[in-house]
Amino acid sequence: EMDGFESNDGVILIAATNRPDVLDPALLRPGRFDRRVVVSKPDVQGRRRILEVHVKKTPIAQDVDLDRIARGTPGFSGADLENLVNEAALVAARKNKNKLSMDDFEFAKDKVMMGSERKSMVISEEDKRVTAYHEAGHTLVGKTLVGTDPIHKVTIIPRGMALGLTQVLPEKESLSLSKNKAINMIAFLFGGRAAEELVFKDFTTGAGSDIERATEIARRMVCEWGMSEKLGPLAYEKREGPVFLGMQSNNQRDYSEAKAQEIDAEVYKLISNGYESALKILRDNIDTLHRLANALLEKETIDGPEVELIFQGGTTADIDRAREVREAQLAKDMATLPKAEAARGGGGGTDPIGNSGPVTA
Ligand code: ZN
Repeated sequence: EMDGFESNDGVILIAATNRPDVLDPALLRPGRFDRRVVVSKPDVQGRRRILEVHVKKTPIAQDVDLDRIARGTPGFSGADLENLVNEAALVAARKNKNKLSMDDFEFAKDKVMMGSERKSMVISEEDKRVTAYHEAGHTLVGKTLVGTDPIHKVTIIPRGMALGLTQVLPEKESLSLSKNKAINMIAFLFGGRAAEELVFKDFTTGAGSDIERATEIARRMVCEWGMSEKLGPLAYEKREGPVFLGMQSNNQRDYSEAKAQEIDAEVYKLISNGYESALKILRDNIDTLHRLANALLEKETIDGPEVELIFQGGTTADIDRAREVREAQLAKDMATLPKAEAARGGGGGTDPIGNSGPVTA
């Protein structure tokens, strides 16, 4: 009945779908749905504003930086962000806190993104050492290369499938990737494996997903983004079908066997160059690598500013002091009642965490 309306009937028909690719073409003919709006995942500003909505009902501490959380959650949908706030509130409630602090959000973000911490997992001292050097390798390479995203956090506490991880926090959301940044990313991804080789003269399986990601970047640089000087700006691989909405894309190949070999050689060159530059950075800064790895072994998790401390020649004692200062500030903030927060115009709700809607579990 969709063509039964006159333009002056005042009827507006709205429909939504996640699968525009399988719609009956009859629905898409002119005069049926005249406007099509693609709603993609929220960008960093969108995420911030969604977070603002969800924290309205929960009292938050002064150290909570919504911009920072928004920056650290690329790819999150509105529902993911709501879940993040709920998880953070659960953590805070479990600790009997009257406000959510940045730590709670940080913990919730990691849990939502990578699964729960597996603190009970038994790890041998040797495995721990390898993981510490692996992550220290990523961190050192990432911090040394110009133009890479700043280090947000490094940890050797196993989570989900990973034994440890190094998180970066983009300064701003970038919609495209420059050749230089792509090259640096490959080196950053190989920082872990290069550290293993340098220190232990052996490899573990820990670099499996790093290698996979680096190879994908290198391949797309050559085949899709025209970043190989030798092969030129040609599209060697076409990604078929809509790239959004979770459709599997089938890559189509239309080049000769000889070209395929050249492509492989170019990809290999990008990979081995990246690996070499990671090795060189680690060799040149071997002292920092040892100190970073030792700090990780002692602290298990260190954040961006603490990594900076180590880089400036600081020790774990300096980290302890910085943490004490931060905790004292937080304790002072926690001592004020959430009501004061509401009066300040920040929080909104005055419910203690345990009573606010979705949080009770
Ligand atoms: Zn790694």
